[in-house]
Amino acid sequence: MKSLLLLFARRYIAGTGRQDAIRVALGLNKAGIGATIDNLGENVKNASEANDSVKEYLGLLDDIQSAGADSTISLKLTHLGLDLSKELAFKNAETIIKKAFESGNSVRLDMEGSEYTQRTIETFLELRQKYPNVGIAIQSSLLRSRKDARMIAEKSGSIRLVKGAYKEPPEVAFQDKKEVDASFEAIMKELLLSGTRPAIATHDERLINEAKRFAADKNLSKNSFDFEMLLGIKRKLQIELAAEGYKVRVYIPYGRNWLPYTIRRLRERKENIWFVVKNIFER
Ligand SMILES: Cc1cc2nc3c(=O)[nH]c(=O)nc-3n(C[C@H](O)[C@H](O)[C@H](O)COP(=O)(O)OP(=O)(O)OC[C@H]3O[C@@H](n4cnc5c(N)ncnc54)[C@H](O)[C@@H]3O)c2cc1C
Repeated sequence: MKSLLLLFARRYIAGTGRQDAIRVALGLNKAGIGATIDNLGENVKNASEANDSVKEYLGLLDDIQSAGADSTISLKLTHLGLDLSKELAFKNAETIIKKAFESGNSVRLDMEGSEYTQRTIETFLELRQKYPNVGIAIQSSLLRSRKDARMIAEKSGSIRLVKGAYKEPPEVAFQDKKEVDASFEAIMKELLLSGTRPAIATHDERLINEAKRFAADKNLSKNSFDFEMLLGIKRKLQIELAAEGYKVRVYIPYGRNWLPYTIRRLRERKENIWFVVKNIFER
């Protein structure tokens, strides 16, 4: 089973090392597409593992700079020790964000399961007071997200809007895909009008077309927002949007801790399981 998953993972993950991610980013850059690189890892169990993650991200920032890649970075607070303490995750995130700031780069905090939402937003808001180069992801699946997105946008925070990759209970999240999509559309429109350069992070072509239509209708420039997609999904659409003059950024994960990310991609939708099976047999 693990080798089957590894085969599946290859489509979505650049490789195990930083240079794999940089190589993929430079390839995308040639097609006019930006990148955001994520070192795979989450829920570290001790401060030393969190410290290893910080070191990896600092090296990644150096490598992005020396390669001249158009790439930001994305990270998860539980990879920096959030399960151990909020203070540790803050300190570690600050070390990375400060270095990114000094080298003219920016950092996005991924959003994890709902038990981390409040702490991730609080950490983000505290970091944002000192560093303009930090952004956050918000999940349209959560009942609270419309309020959160509005509050963050009012403070000029930059949001990557996603549907949400974690299975959540009805007390905190919409269970029906239609509701998640409607929530995405509503938050997306508010963010597009907010002047905070949101990232519309979806492969859902109806929502992408709606973003394009809405922005044109409101006379918003193509440069006032980004589209973001994951490595290995809708490659043709990424290229088409970039050719139409939109800023497209692709999320590039790399590293040895590939299993949780891979399982999230696999479980996302029923069609994805068919997508995997079909893909495996077509190889
Ligand atoms: C740049 C980026 C960053 C993200 N960051 C986070 C984050 O911080 N926190 C978080 O919870 N989630 C994050 N996600 C994941 C997100 O929450 C969704 O789980 C994921 O994007 C699938 O939802 P969708 O918007 O593409 O819509 P869906 O309705 O799920 O998919 C629309 C279409 O996209 C295609 N598609 C979607 N997923 C796959 C797949 N795995 N394989 C093949 N085709 C697929 C299919 O054609 C599908 O019909 C991120 C997504 C992106 C694009």
